[in-house]
Amino acid sequence: MVTVMKLPLFRAAAMTLLCALILTGGGCSRSPREDGLPWLEDMNVLLIVVDTMGAGHVGCLEPGLDTTPNIDRLAADGALFTHAYSTAPWTQPSISALMTGLTPSHTGVLHLYDHLGADNVTLAERLSRRGFATAGVVSHFLIAARLGFDQGFDSYDESAVVNHHRGISSPKVYQAAAADLQRLKDDRFFMFVHFFDPHAHYLHHPEFDRTSWYHGPVRDWDHKITELRKRLDELDPDGTRYLRDLYREEIAFTDHYIGMLLAKLDELGLRDNTLVILTADHGEEFMEHHWIGHTRNLYDTLVHVPLVVSLPGRIDPAVIDDPVSLLDIAPTLMDLSRDPVEDFSWDGISLIPRLAGRRPGRTGRLLYHEVAFPARKDDAGTPVAGRGTFLAAVSRDQWKLIHDVEHDTWSLFDRVTDPGEHRDLLAEQPAVASPLRRDLLEWEKDKVPGWGVGGAQKRTLDPELEKRLKSLGYIR
Ligand SMILES: [Zn+2]
Repeated sequence: MVTVMKLPLFRAAAMTLLCALILTGGGCSRSPREDGLPWLEDMNVLLIVVDTMGAGHVGCLEPGLDTTPNIDRLAADGALFTHAYSTAPWTQPSISALMTGLTPSHTGVLHLYDHLGADNVTLAERLSRRGFATAGVVSHFLIAARLGFDQGFDSYDESAVVNHHRGISSPKVYQAAAADLQRLKDDRFFMFVHFFDPHAHYLHHPEFDRTSWYHGPVRDWDHKITELRKRLDELDPDGTRYLRDLYREEIAFTDHYIGMLLAKLDELGLRDNTLVILTADHGEEFMEHHWIGHTRNLYDTLVHVPLVVSLPGRIDPAVIDDPVSLLDIAPTLMDLSRDPVEDFSWDGISLIPRLAGRRPGRTGRLLYHEVAFPARKDDAGTPVAGRGTFLAAVSRDQWKLIHDVEHDTWSLFDRVTDPGEHRDLLAEQPAVASPLRRDLLEWEKDKVPGWGVGGAQKRTLDPELEKRLKSLGYIR
């Protein structure tokens, strides 16, 4: 559960060696950065990821919503990216991309229960090599150490992983993270804190009530995501809104513990010297496209996520509308390092120019998304009910082109005039679709061959894991 603790002596030696190398190579270690931001090695980094928290359910991105007062406060004091996107609509590929700066098909984490291979260099590894103490606290078994997600972490606490329909995890995540902060307060640290509660099943939190207005039948349904999906045709608008509000209670509940964690930073006197990055791995669908949950499409309900970067007194409060990706987090942090990464090709870009108040030199950035979710076979090799999902998408400005790779069908959406992505403009906008289609096909070239399109996924899962995956709606 908790991996081997690295000796502080080793870190001190690593720092000494690093400084010596930098000084030998021209000596800039004590000089300030030209953009006024601190060097990575002169601060701590706290990366908070909330599982399943779509941008449309967060107050700082949806004026009038009161779900997230603590996140909103963090956003008001820092840089808020209003158009941040995940690479994939579910946990494993999205977090693998965040941690490596590589697309899921480049990390190899595409399918359920794929292992994050040791050939990937994670943020924790990069920061550890730069002298940071590294600690992870996670609450989803799909990013557990046994799947390779602990690479580079001195400690990786999975004590908050719970079976969601029986328990809640945010208090445990908070306790473990606060204990790590206390333990590492005199060190230079990188902490990854992952909250899970907004993920299905949606549980009621009376102290954050948003559902008392509803008295209809859905209140008495079995709220397991797998059971809900069997009754989609029975869901009326009020019943759907009730489920959405139940989910928002979970977000409000989680936000409360994020507030406590940030208060702990304050209490320990670490706030002004800790770069806080807060985001989510993907969003959630509530019948916008006749589906509840996530994993099965690439609409903005699933890939548009919040992103806040905060360092009081050093990063000016700003609202940044440029489209950015979770792929950008790793290259951004490395761009702050005295020891930059020069022999690696990121799939993301550094956001430092934007954080330093400079406009980007170019517009029209292309952002890509992917999901490869093969249908399953049972132990006898017979396909289990349901079909696979193989989608790639590219967006530029307001446009998004989605390719159903298996069936070779395409759809185009204008997210300014049609934010819900309901009106397919492919036939009406050939001049927009054509270059995007060319870009997407080019992007797919070295990736789709590894997706297993059309094939059924044959996994040897232990019975307990299979039960959990079914319970969370990942498999049927
Ligand atoms: Zn997730």
